[in-house]
Amino acid sequence: MVKNRRQKLLLLLLLFGFIGLSLPGSHQSQQVFEPIHRVQTHKKVVALTFDDGPDPVYTPLILETLHKNKISATFFVLGSQVDRYPKVMDWMKKAGHEIGNHGYHHYDLNKLTEQEIYDDIKQGEKSIYRLTGVLPQYYRPPGGVITTDVMNAVQLSGYDIIFWSVDPRDWSLTRTSSVIVKSVKQHTSRGDIILFHDGGLNQKQTLQALQQLINDLKSQGYSFVTVSELLDIGDRIN
Ligand SMILES: [Zn+2]
Repeated sequence: MVKNRRQKLLLLLLLFGFIGLSLPGSHQSQQVFEPIHRVQTHKKVVALTFDDGPDPVYTPLILETLHKNKISATFFVLGSQVDRYPKVMDWMKKAGHEIGNHGYHHYDLNKLTEQEIYDDIKQGEKSIYRLTGVLPQYYRPPGGVITTDVMNAVQLSGYDIIFWSVDPRDWSLTRTSSVIVKSVKQHTSRGDIILFHDGGLNQKQTLQALQQLINDLKSQGYSFVTVSELLDIGDRIN
């Protein structure tokens, strides 16, 4: 029996606590289980993200462009590339960019068990940590594959899943730099996470598009932040 106000309050808190945990739309559960695509904000900010590096040729050139423009970005690196190109990774870290985990092998996650996905995430983490001393907070699954096994493995690994809201498909060999620029300009608005690749097949076009895009977005009043800065600025949108 509830005897006084304090006990009533405690009971209410417990009740809301349980409801909060069980409702699928609750803020808590969204943060943990569902990929974050962008944030809601009135500020003119976007986050540039780069996947599949570090690449020995193109990552340094992209780092140089970012440095010239005083921009910090987020790189979702592959553990296998980190092991191959430690100097590039070291440069990325020293330049102050945010480092996210893209797994070790860039496997097709549809073909893996939950345990195998977990092991790949942890192997990627190990390489990043060994070289940079950074324990990444964010994971981006290769190919954007999301299955129950992926979500369980990511949750067990203690990461937030970061997707994107603007994808110029810069990895495709058919995309020229002007197509990439046009695609980003058409689709970008406040709080977006933009997906690029510093590793892969088509980075030359990405590199060419990057400076043009930075100029265009800056002239529209945008500034550039890392993923964690973006998440601090706005409300997460899944
Ligand atoms: Zn990838």
